[in-house]
Amino acid sequence: MSGKNATEVLLADAQGIAHAAAILERGGLVAVPTETVYGLAARADNAEAVAKIYAAKGRPQFNPLIVHVRDAEQAARYVAWSDEAEIVADICWPGPLTLVLPSRPDAGLAEAVTAGLPTLAVRAPKHPVMRQLLEQVDFPLAAPSANRSEAISPTSPEHVLETLDGRIDLVLDAGPCEEGLESSILAIRHDGTWEELRVGPVDLKAVYNHYYHDWDGPQLILAGQGERRILEAPGQLARHYSPGKPVRLNAIEAEPDEFMIGFGAICGDCDLSKTGDLQAAAANLYQCLHLAAASNKPRIAVAPIPDTDVGRAINDRLRRAAA
Ligand code: AMP
Ligand code: MG
Repeated sequence: MSGKNATEVLLADAQGIAHAAAILERGGLVAVPTETVYGLAARADNAEAVAKIYAAKGRPQFNPLIVHVRDAEQAARYVAWSDEAEIVADICWPGPLTLVLPSRPDAGLAEAVTAGLPTLAVRAPKHPVMRQLLEQVDFPLAAPSANRSEAISPTSPEHVLETLDGRIDLVLDAGPCEEGLESSILAIRHDGTWEELRVGPVDLKAVYNHYYHDWDGPQLILAGQGERRILEAPGQLARHYSPGKPVRLNAIEAEPDEFMIGFGAICGDCDLSKTGDLQAAAANLYQCLHLAAASNKPRIAVAPIPDTDVGRAINDRLRRAAA
């Protein structure tokens, strides 16, 4: 669509979903709720439709997209499926885990989806709205987060409209997202090595330990360990998820000109979780960052977050917001 038309917002009921399917069918852009964040979806098999995602987001062309599928069977049409992939998909799909696998030469997807990489990122999401949509169309959906590039990821329809109003055709409204953080990304290499490319809601070490002991499985490289050969996932860019003002981490008390984001016993202008619940904190993180960005305070302070469980993913996003 041209940048001038207003973006339609529809409740994500049967009618809304059918309307979304029709827009996607003809190559349009729809913001769709998933359990992680709102995704900006286009049909992945159409170069023009995929090009519109990059244009609407102002996304650099080198930044590949995640392709959303119904299940492992559909994924195997686009990537070289393996026993390792089957193991992981068995426990984690549908859900907030993305698998990066060698793409198939006969995948038939738009080239821009992989940004020229020999691998493709695939995920079967569990949000009922995204699932119903994937059932209704006969193509997979490329869908990065539904925000302008570098901005804070959207966990509500309002967040989507903040940066994409007038740039996309439709937003399907299903309220706030449950997990609130982008998917964990796991690459499974030719030699079987597991490499965590982005920390997220799924604890990959736990998934690994479910099948292997440290001595009998393939190598597991967690994000932040070892040398990364190439920059694959811009979730890996040091600066990302930016609120557009300075962010101070591990703050016990706010300075007068700071918007304080609290956690546990440390109270703020907005609290991630007063009871210190990390799962709730993950779900509230982007809402708090959006409020902090919009406040008239020129700086942001964030209380310390334990670096355990999903706290790892929260701290990863906060470090990038602060970079
Ligand atoms: P977003 O949905 O906006 O969080 O972006 C999708 C993330 O998936 C980005 O960090 C991409 O770089 C990453 N990604 C997509 N395809 C690949 C791939 N083939 N290899 C590695 N990372 C990928
Ligand atoms: Mg994003």
